[in-house]
Amino acid sequence: MTQIFNFSAGPAVLPKSVLERAQAEMLDWHGSGMSVMEMSHRGKEFMSILAKTEADLRTLLNIPGNYKVLFLQGGAIAENAMIPLNLLNGKVADYAVTGGWSKRSVEDASAYGTVNVVASSEADQYTHVPAFSSWKLDKNAAYLHICTNETMSGVEFVDLPSTNGVPIVADMSSHILSRQIDVSQYGVIYGGAQKNIGPAGLCIVIVREDLLGKASPLTPAVFNWKTQAENQSMINTPPTYSIYIAGLVFEWLLAKGGVAAIEQENIAKAKLLYEYIDSTDFYVNHVAIKNRSRMNIPFFLHDESLNDAFLKGAEVHGLLQLKGHRAVGGMRASIYNAMPIEGVQALVAYMKEFESAH
Ligand SMILES: *Cc1c(COP(=O)(O)O)cnc(C)c1O
Repeated sequence: MTQIFNFSAGPAVLPKSVLERAQAEMLDWHGSGMSVMEMSHRGKEFMSILAKTEADLRTLLNIPGNYKVLFLQGGAIAENAMIPLNLLNGKVADYAVTGGWSKRSVEDASAYGTVNVVASSEADQYTHVPAFSSWKLDKNAAYLHICTNETMSGVEFVDLPSTNGVPIVADMSSHILSRQIDVSQYGVIYGGAQKNIGPAGLCIVIVREDLLGKASPLTPAVFNWKTQAENQSMINTPPTYSIYIAGLVFEWLLAKGGVAAIEQENIAKAKLLYEYIDSTDFYVNHVAIKNRSRMNIPFFLHDESLNDAFLKGAEVHGLLQLKGHRAVGGMRASIYNAMPIEGVQALVAYMKEFESAH
């Protein structure tokens, strides 16, 4: 097989060593005689996998003791509805719209109560995070929702607004574990696993304890954070195999030196690609430099009639899934934690070659 690099936005590339380990353990996990897929979720083997996975995530993100970690199903989009159901409690909620995903969050939440859009960059095609001084925050809001990395348009938050105690709820699906964060600045952090953590089917919710117990009676038990927190995320069968792979990814990250170490790699990878894009008129990225995502890098060819040729040539070079999101167009290179720098080097080399050929 020729070397390929997978730039998919999600489900996305996983570390090769993790896949090899899963392969080696596929039929017989640690002498149990069973695959993880075949184990009772309440048996001691799987309970040990879950406990280790949670402990490693707590280490990686330095999660304070007054936060619960939940392993749920339904992905980030289910949480769009579950956030208002768990938190609104008769109040209003503030939402910032900085891209396609936070816009979707507003639409999904609006069915459950009053949602204020405090800021929006939609009129600017989501090319920046609006200055916090312009945000119309409500000091009585139940929470402020943001998407800290907009996967489609490639816009990333580098700091947070001050909210006077209103808890920040952050969709971190596409950059969780890619950079150091201070968990205590958030009320809730959530994300689907299939971008930077593991396979689809798992959604991680990290919630501050004082935010539990406010859920509407209409909240389904499987999505009630308090109920799930009291039952080790086992009010239903959790996505066991996805949790197991997430655990292997966490071990891989810890062995690399944790989030601080991978953040340095991510900075170097993103720099390589942005510097090349900025050095030529052949390609362009429209995002404000301050908010350029390290994980998802959309770019456009000046001559869009060359798009198909670019993608075809990329495939021949083993550079896969570079087509931009259908709502944005152009190209997008997703360079998550598991993308080695060699992948970005190969992409830049191909982009240069394509440029000189055209
Ligand atoms: C991919 C993505 C989602 C949607 O996740 P699902 O698992 O499909 O529900 C939501 N938010 C962000 C930021 C994403 O990148």
